[in-house]
Amino acid sequence: MGRKRGQQDAKDHTGADAGAPRARDDAEGTADAPGAGDSGGDAGDDLRAADSDAAGVSAGDQAGAGDDAAAGGDAGDDADASGGEDGRERRAAQGQGFGNVAVAELTPEQAGAELERLASLLTQADRAYHGDDAPIMADADYDALVIRNREIEARFPDLKRADSPSERVGFTPSEGFSKVTHAVRMLSLGNAFDEDEIAEFDSRIRRYLGMGTGDRLTYTSEPKIDGLSLSLRYENGALVQAATRGDGAVGENVTANARTIKDIPGRLEEAPDVLEVRGEVYMAHADFAALNERQADSAQKVFANPRNAAAGSLRQLDPAITASRPLRFFAYAWGAHSEPLGETQMESIERLAALGFVTNPLTTRCDGPDEMLAQYRRIEQMRAELGYDIDGVVYKVDDIALQHRLGYRSTTPRWAIAHKFPAELAWTRLEAIDIQVGRTGALSPVARLHPVTVGGVVVSNATLHNEDYIAGRDARGNEIRGGKDIRVGDWVQVYRAGDVIPKINDVDLEKRPEGAQRYDFPKTCPECGSPAIREEGDAARRCTGGLICPAQAVEKLKHFVSRAAFDIEGLGAKQVEQFYRDGWIGEPADIFTLKDRYGPGCMTQLRNREGWGETSAGNLFEAIEDKRSIPLARLIFGLGIRHVGEVAARDLALHYRDWDAMARAVDLARPAALAHRAADEAEDAERIAAGEEGRRARIKESRESAIAALDVPDAARAAWEDLIGIDGIGAVLGLSLSDAFANDHERAAFDALCKHLTIEPPDAPASDSPVAGKTVVFTGTLEKMTRAEAKARAEALGAKVSGSVSAKTDLLVAGPGAGSKAKKAADLGVETIDEDGWLQLIGGS
Ligand SMILES: [Zn+2]
Repeated sequence: MGRKRGQQDAKDHTGADAGAPRARDDAEGTADAPGAGDSGGDAGDDLRAADSDAAGVSAGDQAGAGDDAAAGGDAGDDADASGGEDGRERRAAQGQGFGNVAVAELTPEQAGAELERLASLLTQADRAYHGDDAPIMADADYDALVIRNREIEARFPDLKRADSPSERVGFTPSEGFSKVTHAVRMLSLGNAFDEDEIAEFDSRIRRYLGMGTGDRLTYTSEPKIDGLSLSLRYENGALVQAATRGDGAVGENVTANARTIKDIPGRLEEAPDVLEVRGEVYMAHADFAALNERQADSAQKVFANPRNAAAGSLRQLDPAITASRPLRFFAYAWGAHSEPLGETQMESIERLAALGFVTNPLTTRCDGPDEMLAQYRRIEQMRAELGYDIDGVVYKVDDIALQHRLGYRSTTPRWAIAHKFPAELAWTRLEAIDIQVGRTGALSPVARLHPVTVGGVVVSNATLHNEDYIAGRDARGNEIRGGKDIRVGDWVQVYRAGDVIPKINDVDLEKRPEGAQRYDFPKTCPECGSPAIREEGDAARRCTGGLICPAQAVEKLKHFVSRAAFDIEGLGAKQVEQFYRDGWIGEPADIFTLKDRYGPGCMTQLRNREGWGETSAGNLFEAIEDKRSIPLARLIFGLGIRHVGEVAARDLALHYRDWDAMARAVDLARPAALAHRAADEAEDAERIAAGEEGRRARIKESRESAIAALDVPDAARAAWEDLIGIDGIGAVLGLSLSDAFANDHERAAFDALCKHLTIEPPDAPASDSPVAGKTVVFTGTLEKMTRAEAKARAEALGAKVSGSVSAKTDLLVAGPGAGSKAKKAADLGVETIDEDGWLQLIGGS
């Protein structure tokens, strides 16, 4: 019998929200895309990130801008003073000082004072110029001071200051682009495209935090700058490193280049000992136009848009080139820091402004979705006049303690979202429809367009999704675009939002050419000729060729080497295609024998191939060797099994902890998986029959008889229930996994691959927690935390959270209203505790 443990008087329950929110909004991960499901399976990482004080992605504020303006005002006074008006003490250093003394005649003492004066003056000029758009001196005067500063430094190198302005104008030698591992990951933001999604964002947060609709929840809103994220690391006030976002975990070291950006202070006064400031490097419209003019004049590359220009300028190997490009920087977030910047997002941004960063003046606090949307519309109206590109508005939970509680999904914070502006539109002609075959065999139609500029970018391809979409229907058979189908030769409206792949928004029927035919979607795979089948409930038509289909094989290999999977440096999509075409690799296992077949001493060698040399070939072999040891989750994800995204792969790895254990369990569950499918089919048949006969469908009976007919062993049933009971897995994914393991070709490929690998189990659970390694089920109403939060915290402590009670369950946490799960736990003798007992057990952590 389940014994009650840790039972104590219920503490103060006031403020508890009613209802038990579902742990997941998207219960079954049905998308191929990594990270599609918001499973809490990634919560372990999320909470670690939160513990290390990972914060944020964006901000800026009005008070900060006010400070800047004030600084600009002061500088203005000083500039006047340098004209020699009066002799107030403060101005002595910043005024003329020894400015009249020629560099060659300066004494060391005078030189020191002069360097100090120039550092201060140039810093103020930079600030006034970039922060306030109110330059306090002419460019020529500015340049003259920069040169004077440089000459004094050349004559008195020992006197060069830590905050020397010359550090900002491109004198530092290139440091190349070595890799930088971010101390705190740089994450991206989830996107929203319409107002309903903002309301949903707010209610999702309230559900997660267990807040009622009446509770006050404040957000910040700020324009989303369309530039490049940059992380600046300051130690003891000095800028020591600047890194691009890269993949979020590892970026490029662009320190020398960042030092040339005037909005980026080289030194901070009274800053925390360690502070990583994050923000966006961008180029203003006017600067962009002028740059492109100069580029065109000197017959150099003209940039497509300010963002590309900013990216191209920041990532120059020669910092002198970066220095010549007019880059700017808005600070809006932070990474690692030795002390908090503030208790709220807004306070923290104000602190960044006080430290000397330029923050965005349009940042405000908003009480709830109505105010957020009002601010969104305000910013959207100002968009054209801002002078720099923005592509939406970012909202963040203001309270940083709440940000920490909310934590992260695999790649995005739960407490922030980017509300994108509507897409940019343009009309052009559809010249052809091509079919691409994906990794899971899906035939994806692609529109080949007469090139057209949409929002500053030339577009010549757009996705057409699937055959229904071309025909003018959505997945449920409802009309889209008023039912207009898309035909080759049509005038189509292309739309594009941010980095999203361009889509076809509308068709102009008036301009449809005579005799244009409805598009006949292929029924065979254009790559291998196998039949392309569309299954019930699947939007895509899929090639049935499996591994004999070259397109699928190549896409699988590309997925295998991709960043979130094996991440093999030097083996990108292009190389995979070449190697596959030449028969060098056909399946993942072949990658690990590449060196034996084409390495040093072989008849044909990689280093002799066009585009390769001794070094690059050696590097590739080394990168491959490096990945012979691989975390289990990456292996599972890398196999490219349909529906198994990054999050699901991690859930599976955490649950089984071992490849062989997972393979055995999936094999064992196979009869039950087939019975499940048979039951699904019986259910469909019953629904159709009932519809035709005009009676109520007997779903339960039809499913049960289908399962009974198959005589599934108990062990299979238990293994299947264990698999689909993993929170975030479910039957759709379970079936897909089961099919992959039962497919002879795929299984042989898995086995061949694993022979080359050392598979690393997931991180050992936090060893000091009594729940580490335990399988826990939550049921009933939790009153002090929501289900999602409970799950995230349990997983952070190393527990496995399951959705159903079985013999493998170690602990049931039952709140009021617990029903069948509590009874089943009692029958199985599973230990059962209440919420307070649970909190006590995990030490209130
Ligand atoms: Zn095919």
